[in-house]
Amino acid sequence: MSNTRRTASCICGAVQINVTGAPLSTYLCHCGSYRKATGVMLASNVMYKADEGDDPAAVLKTFEDTQSSDSGTVILRSFCAICGGRVTGQR
Ligand SMILES: [Zn+2]
Repeated sequence: MSNTRRTASCICGAVQINVTGAPLSTYLCHCGSYRKATGVMLASNVMYKADEGDDPAAVLKTFEDTQSSDSGTVILRSFCAICGGRVTGQR
């Protein structure tokens, strides 16, 4: 098992999320929900268990997306309250 630590951040750097270990999965998605959320044709995703990362809730805003999933799944889309950079998504 890998103990590699990785850090992701928003554009301004106010939100930083650290994860350790191997991702649960990686995938590219081109469903309507991701296209709408990202504005691009393909979104690349890396999935980690939620409890492996830090909780930067103080500067995160979360949008509960109940409309755009093709399957009807609610997606929690989090972004930085300062720069608007999209950081995480949770199902
Ligand atoms: Zn930011």
